[in-house]
Amino acid sequence: MESCLFCRIAAKEVPARIVHEDDDCLAFEDINPQAPMHVLVIPRRHMATLNELSDQDSRLAGRLVLVARNLAVERGYKESGFRLVANCQAGAGQSVFHIHVHVLGGRAFQWPPG
Ligand code: 5GP
Ligand code: ZN
Repeated sequence: MESCLFCRIAAKEVPARIVHEDDDCLAFEDINPQAPMHVLVIPRRHMATLNELSDQDSRLAGRLVLVARNLAVERGYKESGFRLVANCQAGAGQSVFHIHVHVLGGRAFQWPPG
């Protein structure tokens, strides 16, 4: 997907502060952080929304969550807490149509979210 912003970040065509890379996933700092920690974890493979995940993607979906969790723990939020968010479709606030998990930490979070 040449036109996809996050595919271009994964291809290193668009700069980003990358904090984790493996064969399946990439994580980088959000350009407009909403908390002291705000990292995005994405699959390398382009999928527009969570709706595109199938049973064959179970391992990948698990990897996204574990990479997100590991980054939060590395930054010291294991006990104080952190939040993972994945918006699916514009109605839920998705603005970049390449699956991503937000990792937020370092402040208090409200429930329910806005
Ligand atoms: P969404 O609204 O789709 O759930 O989240 C998209 C996220 O991508 C937003 O938090 C936004 O700040 C972030 N974002 C948008 N453009 C860029 C960019 O060019 N670089 C980085 N690092 N983050 C971006
Ligand atoms: Zn993409």
